[in-house]
Amino acid sequence: MENLFFFLNNIVSAIWFFILGASLGSFANVCARRIPAGISIISPRSRCTNCKTPIRAYYNIPILSWIFLKGRCAYCKGDISVEYPVVEFLCAVLVLLLYREFGATYDLFFYTALCIALVVITLIDIRHMIIPDVITLPGIVAGVVFNAFRTDWREATEAVFSSGMVSFPQAADIAIFNSIGGILLGGGTFLLIAMVYRAIRKKEGMGMGDVKLVSMLGAFFGMWGVLVVIFLSSILGTLIGLLVIILRKKDPGYAIAYGPFLSLAAILYLLGNDLLLVAGINIGLFG
Ligand SMILES: [Zn+2]
Repeated sequence: MENLFFFLNNIVSAIWFFILGASLGSFANVCARRIPAGISIISPRSRCTNCKTPIRAYYNIPILSWIFLKGRCAYCKGDISVEYPVVEFLCAVLVLLLYREFGATYDLFFYTALCIALVVITLIDIRHMIIPDVITLPGIVAGVVFNAFRTDWREATEAVFSSGMVSFPQAADIAIFNSIGGILLGGGTFLLIAMVYRAIRKKEGMGMGDVKLVSMLGAFFGMWGVLVVIFLSSILGTLIGLLVIILRKKDPGYAIAYGPFLSLAAILYLLGNDLLLVAGINIGLFG
C-alpha cells in the first residue's frame, strides 16, 4: 500500500514537471522569436505569424494544440511551424530529467532557468548567428548569486552563532570565488581563442557573444565545470561541424554558430552523471 502511494506520488510529480517543462518550452519559443526582433516578451499576447489573429488560450496549450490543429492555424489554416511542439516537448523532457537529477531543490530552480535560457540562446544563434546580451549578462549575475546563496545556510548560521563571530560564511566565500574564477577562466579562454584566430585568419571566428555565454556558464559551474563544458563543446563542435561539411558539402571555412554546442555541452554536464550512471560508468567528471 505504501509502495503504491510512493509510486503514484512519483507519477504525479513527473506529470507536473513535464507540464511545467512544456509551458517553459512555449515561453522559450516566444523569447526566441521576440528577442531578436526587439519585441516585449510579455505583451502583446501570442498571435498567428501568418494572419496575426491573437491566439485564444485553448488553442495555445503546449504540444497538444499543435497536434489537435494538425499544425494549422485555427483561423487562417496557415502552417504553424513544427518547431513549436518539438521545442515544447524537448523542454518538457529536459525539465523532467533535471527534476530526476536534482529533486525539488534550490538547485533545480536555478538549473531549470539556466537550461531554458540555453534553449532560447540555441534557437536564436542557429537562426541569427547572435547571442543576445539581454540573456547572457543577467545570466552571469544570476550564476554568481546562485553560488553565493547555495551554501547550506543552516550550517553557516550555526557556525556563526557558536563561534560568536558575525562573519560571512566561509563556504559562501569559496563558492563566490569559484564562480568568479569560472567567469574569468571561461571568458578568458574564449577571448584568447578569438584573438589568436583573428590574428592568424584575419577574420572573426569566435564572436563576443560566445565569450559572454561561456562566462555565464563559468558563473554557474565554477572553474572545473567550465573547463569540462569547453572540452565537451569542442568535441561536439568538431563532430557535428565535420558532419555538416560532409553532408551539405560546405567548404571548411563555412561558419557554424558555436552557442548551440556550448549549450548542449552545459546540459550534458548537468545531466552527465545520471546518464553515465545509467550506462554503469562513474568517472567523476561531471558536476
Ligand atoms: Zn492564422
